[in-house]
Amino acid sequence: MKIKRVTAKLYKWTGPVLTTNTVFATPLSPIHSQTDSQAAFRFFSWLVVEVETDEGHIGYGNAGLSPDVTKAVIDSKLTPILLGENPLNTEYLFEKMYRSTVAFGRKGTVIAAISAIDIALWDIKGKVMNQPVFMLMGGRTTPDIETYYSRLYTRDLDSLQAEAVHYKEQGFSGMKLRCGYPLTEGVAGMRKNVEMAKVVREAVGDDINVMLEGYMGFNLAYAKQFLKALEPYNLRWAEELLLPDEIHNFAKLRQYTDIPLSGGEHEYTRYGFHDLLQTGALDIFQFDTNRVGGFTEAQKICNMALAHGIEVIPHGGQMHNLHVVLSSFASPMAEYFPQTEIEVGNEMFWYIFDGEAIAENGRVQLSDTLPGVGLTLKTEGLEHFIITE
Ligand SMILES: [Mg+2]
Repeated sequence: MKIKRVTAKLYKWTGPVLTTNTVFATPLSPIHSQTDSQAAFRFFSWLVVEVETDEGHIGYGNAGLSPDVTKAVIDSKLTPILLGENPLNTEYLFEKMYRSTVAFGRKGTVIAAISAIDIALWDIKGKVMNQPVFMLMGGRTTPDIETYYSRLYTRDLDSLQAEAVHYKEQGFSGMKLRCGYPLTEGVAGMRKNVEMAKVVREAVGDDINVMLEGYMGFNLAYAKQFLKALEPYNLRWAEELLLPDEIHNFAKLRQYTDIPLSGGEHEYTRYGFHDLLQTGALDIFQFDTNRVGGFTEAQKICNMALAHGIEVIPHGGQMHNLHVVLSSFASPMAEYFPQTEIEVGNEMFWYIFDGEAIAENGRVQLSDTLPGVGLTLKTEGLEHFIITE
């Protein structure tokens, strides 16, 4: 069997966008000239890659974050080295792609591009073997998957509480709150961020997991003070409080607090996670399979994490992460981004694919009989997209 076609498609959203309800701190918050510190982190397009074999199998992969650049990497660097190869040799092909791009790749967009291809190759492998990907990666470790609800963006405390109660009533065992007040708002902003965590905890009681998202928006000094103030609210974790390159500072912070620290959503490959393990930087890894190096690399990182007692709770819901969660004992739950109007970009996959798992009573299920990743491309309702091949 040979790869005969690789097509990277850019889905660019041109429809309505709702940004007013999604206020949160970002790495750009401390840059004073910014009027909208979130703008750089919204992505209103999505990359879909199709890999077709000479036997007629088509595998689908995808990438978010910076899809236009990812497409360029696939078109100019990866497609030429994939054509004619056997798509089932996923280990060999990952290594070939990684080593071919290592001089200018290693992290970021190039690894996202490799990830999209790797997901498509595993989709093919599943279709050829007539098995879901999770079955190829070790099979089911749990009957279904617990998820936590990933929203709570609003700064208004009454609606924040109402929202939190609503998610609890829907059956979710956990939910994640954004920090509405950036670093530049100083101690007064920190007090308001703490207040947000406090009112959510009060609204849902002690038996629900409450997580807090920092989205790379703070620094070590702020984070120390912040975590101390958050201690009474029994957070399940505090996420990405620092820039992803500040591995050494995460390690310092972890010694300073009892609140579990999570991160890794912007870390790449087994090498990046090796460094996080070596430094003892985090309690929870949150790679996204469509950024970290695909299923091939995700599996390795799960095994490393398992040996170190580190939990893996991937970024984003989406089928590519759910197959990893279902098949690894390192992973106790998945994130759940609900289908909403287009807001930050994370929700866009709902508009492109059919087959995404929908939560019922806070849990999702994957089919034992649907081969591959389990997604197909929508053929209707695409009028707000410009699709470029
Ligand atoms: Mg996050």
